[in-house]
Amino acid sequence: MQTPQLYTTDVLVIGTGGAGLRAAIALAERNQRVLLVGKRPKMDAHTVLAAGGINAALGSLDQQDTWQYHAADTLKEGRFLGDAQAIELLCQQAPQAISELERWGMPFAREADGRISQRYFGAHRFRRTCFVGDYTGQEIIKALLREVERRQLPILERVYISDLLSSRGRVNGALGWQLDSGQEVLIHAAAVIVAAGGHIHIYKRSSSRRRENTGDGMALAFKAGAALADMELVQFHPSGMVWPLECEGTLVTEAVRGEGGRLLNRDGERFMQRYDAERMELSTRDRVALANYTEISAGRGTEHGGVWLDVTHLPRTQIESRIPRILAQFQAVGVDITREPMEIAPTAHYSMGGVRVEPASHATSVPGLYAAGEVTAGVHGANRLGGNSLAEILVFGRIAGEHAGAYAAANQAPPLDQALIAQLRATNADWASRDGSIQRSLIAQLQQTMWESVGVVRDAATLEAALNRLTSLRQQAATSPAGPGDLAAALDLQSMLLTAEATVRGALLRTESRGAHQRRDYPATDPAWQRTIVIKPHRSAAGTLSAMSLTTARLPEPSPAVRALIDDSELELAGRLVE
Ligand SMILES: Cc1cc2nc3c(=O)[nH]c(=O)nc-3n(C[C@H](O)[C@H](O)[C@H](O)COP(=O)(O)OP(=O)(O)OC[C@H]3O[C@@H](n4cnc5c(N)ncnc54)[C@H](O)[C@@H]3O)c2cc1C
Repeated sequence: MQTPQLYTTDVLVIGTGGAGLRAAIALAERNQRVLLVGKRPKMDAHTVLAAGGINAALGSLDQQDTWQYHAADTLKEGRFLGDAQAIELLCQQAPQAISELERWGMPFAREADGRISQRYFGAHRFRRTCFVGDYTGQEIIKALLREVERRQLPILERVYISDLLSSRGRVNGALGWQLDSGQEVLIHAAAVIVAAGGHIHIYKRSSSRRRENTGDGMALAFKAGAALADMELVQFHPSGMVWPLECEGTLVTEAVRGEGGRLLNRDGERFMQRYDAERMELSTRDRVALANYTEISAGRGTEHGGVWLDVTHLPRTQIESRIPRILAQFQAVGVDITREPMEIAPTAHYSMGGVRVEPASHATSVPGLYAAGEVTAGVHGANRLGGNSLAEILVFGRIAGEHAGAYAAANQAPPLDQALIAQLRATNADWASRDGSIQRSLIAQLQQTMWESVGVVRDAATLEAALNRLTSLRQQAATSPAGPGDLAAALDLQSMLLTAEATVRGALLRTESRGAHQRRDYPATDPAWQRTIVIKPHRSAAGTLSAMSLTTARLPEPSPAVRALIDDSELELAGRLVE
C-alpha cells in the first residue's frame, strides 16, 4: 500500500461546486487555511450544468420586486414546508451574491442600457432570474474558480471522501483516496463543511450525470451523527429528455418555458389549460410535472412516453440567443427545435431535503460539522422555485464558510483517532475486494426501484415494496463475492442505499400530498402535516435498516412583512392557522 498523503488545514471543504467554492472564498477572506476536495475535476462540478439562472430581487426590470416578495413566493410555492428563517436570509442576501459575482467578472446578460437582465421563471411574481444565456452555472463556477485561484487556495481534484473522522464528540477531518493513483488521503481539520450536492441519482431517470448526486454528502454527515430532514421531498422537473435512451433524463431547462415554450399532448392540446389556466406553462414545477405525468399515464403521451414542448412559434434569433444550449442539445440528436417540438417527461432533478442545519450558521447537530448547498434541507420546502438553488449555494456557502471559520478559530482540532481510521480502512479494503460489476448492477436495480415505486406519485404499497427491495439490495451488496473491485461504485451504492431508505421512510411517514410529494392514497394536503420530518441516526446492533429514527418538528413563522404578502386562503390551505 502507498503511504497515505496527510493534509492539515483549518477547514476542510468537501465539494468544489458553487457552495464549496463560495465557502472557501469566505474562509480565505478570514485569512484561514482551507482545503477544497472534489471527486470530479474542479471545472466539472455538478453546478456547471445549471442553466436558466439565479434569483435575486434586484428589481432591475420590475421595480416593485423586493426581497420580501421573493421570500413570500419561495415560502408559498414551497407549500409552506420551507424554513422561513432560512428563506428570509436567502432572499435578503441574494442581491449581495449577484454583486459579488459581478465584481468577480460574471458576464450577466444585460439590457441595452446596461442593467442586468432578469427573466421570468415558473411561479415568480416578477422577473427576478439573472442569467448568462443558458449556461449560468458554468459562468458561476468560472467566476468563483478565478477568485479561488487568485487567492491560491489548494484544491484536491478527483479525491473521493469515504468517511468523516471524529474524536471527542466532534468532527476533525476526513478519509478518502485519489481516484487515479489510488493513494489514500487523510485530512486533519478543525472544522469540515460538506458541500457535496444532492442524492437524485437514486432515480433511474434523473437530470444528473453518471456518478454524481449519489447522496455522499448526506450519507457522510448522517454516519457522523448529523440529522437529515425532509428527504421525501424530491423535485421532479417537468422536462427531461426521453429520447434517445442514452439522453434519458437530461434536463430541458425551465428557461424554455420562460421564453414562451408550450406544452402539448399527443392530440396537440395545450393541456396546462386544464391544470393551471392562469399560469399555464409557467405554473410551479410540481404542478407542471404532475400534469405531464398525468397526461402520459392517461395515454395522451407521445410514442416514447413523453409530451411535447414546443418553441417553433418563437423567432429563431430568440431561440439562438436565449436558449442556445438547448438548441445544441437537441441538434446533437437530430432534432431542430426551431422547426419541431421536443419530446419531454418528468425527471428527478433536485434534493429539497438533506442535512438538517441551523439556518443562520449552517452548523449541523455535530460540533465542527457544517453543510451548504444542495446537500442541505431547509429553503425549498415541497417545491423549489427555479433559480433559487444557485442563490442558495452562494449565500449559504458564504455563511457556512464564515461560521465554520469562526468555529475553527476557537476550537483546535483534537488529534486523529488512529483506531477509528484503522477500522474505516479495513471496511474500505473489504468493499474494494468485492466484485465491482455486482455493485454497479445493484445501483441500476436501486435506481429502477426508486423510479417505479417512489417517483412522481407514490403510495403505501409501493413504498413498502421499495423498502423491502432496499433491504434485499443491501444484503446482496454485503454478501457479494470477491472480484475485480470498484471501491467508488461500492461506496456510491452505500450512500444511495442510505439516502434512498431515508427518502422512502420520510415518504411513508408523510401521509398527505403536498408539492412534489404526491401520495395516491392520501391525495389531500393535511394541515397537521405542515411540519418538517427529521431523521436521526440510531445505530442498531446490526447497523442496518433499522438505524433511522424519524420525528417531526415545527417550522418557524415568517416575519410580519413577508406574512403580509401571502393570502390567508393560501395559508389556510397549507395548514397554517390564520389568526
Ligand atoms: C441540468 C441542471 C440545471 C440546473 N439549472 C439550475 C438553474 O438554472 N438555477 C438554479 O438555481 N439551479 C439549477 N440547478 C440546480 C443547481 O445546479 C444545483 O442545485 C447546484 O449547482 C448545487 O451546487 P452544490 O455546490 O451544492 O453542489 P454540486 O455542484 O453538486 O457540487 C458537489 C461537489 O461535491 C463533490 N463530491 C460529491 N461527493 C463527494 C465525495 N464523496 N468526495 C469528494 N467530493 C464529492 C462533487 O465532485 C462536486 O465537486 C440545475 C441542476 C441541473 C441538474
